[in-house]
Amino acid sequence: MKSSLVILYHREPYDEVVENGKTYYREKKSPNGIVPTLKSFFLNAESGTWVAWKQVTPKQRVNFEERVTMDGVTEDGGSKNTVVRRIPLTAEQVKNFYHITSKEAFWPILHSFPWQFTYDSSDWENFQHINEMFAEAACQEAADDALIWIHDYNLWLTPYYIRQKMPNVKIAFFHHTPFPAADIFNVLPWRESIIDSLLCCDLCGFHIPRYVENFVQAARSARSVEVVKRGPVDPAFTSVGTALAEPELTTCLKYGDRHVYLDAFPVGTNPALIHSILEKTETQERIAKIREDIGENTLIMSAGRVDYVKGNREMLWAYERLLERRPDLHGKINLITTAVTPASGMRVYKTAQSQIEQLAGKINGRFAKLNWTPIILFTKSIPFEELIAFFKAADIAWITPLRDGLNLVAKEYVVAHEGKDGMLVLSEFTGSAVELPDAILTNPYSSSRMDESIDLALSMSEEEKKQRMTRMYQAIKRYDVQQWANHLFREAQAAGNEEIMKELTPV
Ligand code: UDP
Repeated sequence: MKSSLVILYHREPYDEVVENGKTYYREKKSPNGIVPTLKSFFLNAESGTWVAWKQVTPKQRVNFEERVTMDGVTEDGGSKNTVVRRIPLTAEQVKNFYHITSKEAFWPILHSFPWQFTYDSSDWENFQHINEMFAEAACQEAADDALIWIHDYNLWLTPYYIRQKMPNVKIAFFHHTPFPAADIFNVLPWRESIIDSLLCCDLCGFHIPRYVENFVQAARSARSVEVVKRGPVDPAFTSVGTALAEPELTTCLKYGDRHVYLDAFPVGTNPALIHSILEKTETQERIAKIREDIGENTLIMSAGRVDYVKGNREMLWAYERLLERRPDLHGKINLITTAVTPASGMRVYKTAQSQIEQLAGKINGRFAKLNWTPIILFTKSIPFEELIAFFKAADIAWITPLRDGLNLVAKEYVVAHEGKDGMLVLSEFTGSAVELPDAILTNPYSSSRMDESIDLALSMSEEEKKQRMTRMYQAIKRYDVQQWANHLFREAQAAGNEEIMKELTPV
C-alpha cells in the first residue's frame, strides 16, 4: 500500500539495539525533540513512511534491509507498524554530505558566518546524489496525492527531484535553521538550484517571519517571483525593536504557474513531558541534591552543543568580566555549562571545543578557591531528564548564541520554572527571542550589553522575574510542539485549495 504521508528526516525515528546477535528497533531513549511528535502523526495517518539515512559498511550493505518496521502505539491505544525506509550511505558519503558539505559550506552561510564558508572541500555532486536518493525513495513510497514533509537544509534539493516525478503530491518543507539575508545566502555558488528546488514546494515553513522574508529576498534575487500575499505578522511575534523583529510576512509567492505558500511557525517544547519529568520523585530528589550542593549560591545554567554559532566564548568572557568587577560574588555564584562534544569527524568544531575548554580552565584557574569552582563544564550530553532538574534548580539561564535558528533550551528552561521564578537571559539573535520579549534580551556581539544583561538578571526583583517568567510560560504553553506540527498539516492541506486561492489578491 502506498503511503499518504511520507516524512523525510535525516535521523531515524528509533534506536537500533543489537542483543544476542539480533537487531531490535526501540523507541528513542531521549523523549524530547520533534521525533516523538512527528511519529504520533505518522502512526495516526492511514499509512506512512519515514525516510532517513543509515551509515553502513560494505559488508552490511550486502544484505541491507532498506525497509524496516517498528511497532508503535496509536492515539487510541492500538498498535501499528511504522515503515522506515533507510537510505544506505557509506562512511565516506556521510562524511562528505553531513560533516563537510553541510557543516562547512551550508552551516556558516545559514548562520551568517560567510568567512567560515569553504568551497574547496564541499562535494556538491555527492549532495545532489544523496538528495536524489531520498527523493527516489519518497516517490517509491508515496501515493499520488500524498503529503511529503521534508525536514531541513540537508535535503534542500529533494523537492526538485520529487516534483519531476510526482507533479501532484503535496510537498511541505520545514527549515530548522535560520535562513540568512540574501546578501549572505547568495554566497552559495549553488544558490539557483536551491531556490529552484524550494520553489517546487507547496508550503515552506520557517521558525520566524525574518527567515521567511530573507527567503523571499533570496528567491526574488534569483528568479522572477511574484509576491501574491503579504500582511502583518502574527501578534505572537515581536514586530519591531529587536534584532530579528519583522513587521510583515509574505505568505504566498507565485513562480510560473505554481503558488508557494510560506509561513513562520517556530518549533515548540513539550510542556506535558517536562511537567511529568518534574513530578517524578527521582527528579525532585535530584533537584534537592543540586540545591543542597549549591547551598545559598546563585546558580547560572547554560546548555548547548559545541558550535561557534552558540556564543559559548562570549558567555564565558562575560562571566570572567563579572567575576573581575564583582569580587563580592566570589564563592557565591556557580556557572554550570554544557558544551556537548560533537560527533567525531566534525573537524569544523574542533577549534570551538578547545577554545571553550581553555577558557573555562583559564577562568577557573584565575578565580577558584579550595572550596569554590566558578565554572562546572560538562562536555558529555546530559540526559534530558537530568537537564530539566538542572534547569529547575538554576536561578538564571544564560543563553547567548551569536545566531541560532530557534533555541529550544530557552523555552525548556521557562517551562521547567512554570512561570513561578527564575530568569532567562537570551540572545536577540535566536529565533526564540522574537517570541519571548519578556526575557532579558542581550547582544553577544557587545561586551557592555552582555554585562548589563547579566547584572540585570542578578539584581531583578523576585516580583518582576515572576511577572516576566509567567508571561513567557504562557506564550510557550500556547504554542507547543504539537501545535507546531498541527500548523504544518493544516497549512499543507490548505495549500492549493481553490477557495483559498481565490481569496489571494496580488499585493
Ligand atoms: N540537550 C540535552 N542534553 C544536553 C544539551 C542539550 O538533552 O546536554 C537537548 C536540549 O534539552 C534541547 C536540545 O538538546 O532539547 C537542543 O536544542 P536547541 O534548539 O537548544 O539547540 P540545537 O542543538 O538544536 O542547535
